[in-house]
Amino acid sequence: MTHQRPTVRRAAGVSLAVLALASACTKHDLLAPQPGSDALPAMEQRPIQAPELSILKASSPSIATCGASSVYPLTNGTRTIGSVTVSNDASNIFVTYATPTAYWWISDTRLAVEKSAALIPKDGSGNPNPWSFRNIGEHEPPITSFTYMIPLTRVGVVAGQTAYVSAMAGVIHPVVESEAGLEGGWEWMVMWGVGNTPTTTKSVVHAYPVASCGGTAPLPPPPAPPTAGGVITITFDDGYATVHKNAFPVLQSLGIKGNLAVNPIPIDQQWGSYMRMAQVQEIYNSGWSVVSHTMDHKDLTTLSAAAMEAEIRDAKAWIIARNFGPAEVFIVPFHSWGSRERAMIAKYHKYARGRTIDEFWPERYEPWPIRQPLDLTSYEPEYAPWRTAQGRAETMTKVKHAVDNGLFLDLLFHQVQDADLATFRDLMTQVAAYKSNIRTWKEVVQ
Ligand SMILES: [Zn+2]
Repeated sequence: MTHQRPTVRRAAGVSLAVLALASACTKHDLLAPQPGSDALPAMEQRPIQAPELSILKASSPSIATCGASSVYPLTNGTRTIGSVTVSNDASNIFVTYATPTAYWWISDTRLAVEKSAALIPKDGSGNPNPWSFRNIGEHEPPITSFTYMIPLTRVGVVAGQTAYVSAMAGVIHPVVESEAGLEGGWEWMVMWGVGNTPTTTKSVVHAYPVASCGGTAPLPPPPAPPTAGGVITITFDDGYATVHKNAFPVLQSLGIKGNLAVNPIPIDQQWGSYMRMAQVQEIYNSGWSVVSHTMDHKDLTTLSAAAMEAEIRDAKAWIIARNFGPAEVFIVPFHSWGSRERAMIAKYHKYARGRTIDEFWPERYEPWPIRQPLDLTSYEPEYAPWRTAQGRAETMTKVKHAVDNGLFLDLLFHQVQDADLATFRDLMTQVAAYKSNIRTWKEVVQ
């Protein structure tokens, strides 16, 4: 029942400027369009390791936006293997790359969002030059979806105005598109992005009308940086017995409280590695929150509408019947959801955590106080990993960022094994330095 590993990893401490420079040095000559030519960049062969298929996400992030989204093909003019979706909320423009086509993955993304078409960097032929775009992502391992979140204030546009978008992706795919061929040669292909259809090969800059979110007045200036600090929650998903045995005593000894996101079926049926009801009750009685994670942790996107509703509805009823809670909070299994699941979750819950911060660039934290309660994000120290000093430092960077910038962050854990107890205690001791910023879900929803 563990969650899928986050798909987007970026080397710690390496600035995007450095990545951009390195990329420009190593790839420019190979990929630049031929001057004066309509030809698309040629394909390139380079050895790339196959991604671990189990860590690739199947669905792209679902975010609360207003107005209609613009969806463009991600294509090289010959073959379309995905899409680029542009949408906005009151504060940001979101650009989501997605490759749902089997065996095609994104290894690089480059994005320009500007207030005029003239501001999009161009090469000598007048074509967009992605090597000079402001937003650059290198995705190792490669990904199936990725979302950039660009503040409207950074683009310099407000609702009712137009932003100009140019997006591209380097994609990889095995030459032989079958399970049997996955060990074979791999091909890296540049896909010139949005709107680059066979009939409009040069239309790679698109005007995007920024939708008004509940009003026609210009957006207010961004709020002043908060001084009160952000809020951290600590949530243990799935209800494993190791949380009662190892994590709970550590947090108790440090004087901080966490949360459980549980599935009733493993508890009620007393599955082997899961907590018993008395243990859940003991933890809840100590002041932790106990929130819903569905009845038995199925991937909601694979269920019929009726089955999906039952997973969500019945788990909430279970939480309420046992006096746990808060019942307003829902943790999305596998972080797998789309618009259909989101609508059903919203029918029963006000708050949802269903993404990690590193599925977005910049990393996406919800502001505190919370403005979009269905869009809460987490960070999972398991993959830092917390077992190393460097991983603990990485986690503390995220915690400090949230606290210092008035943001909300849920620290997400699953198991705390005996072998990891000492390093877990070390991490939690550092987290406990922010004790006044740590809340339970019950305190968050008040
Ligand atoms: Zn889970």
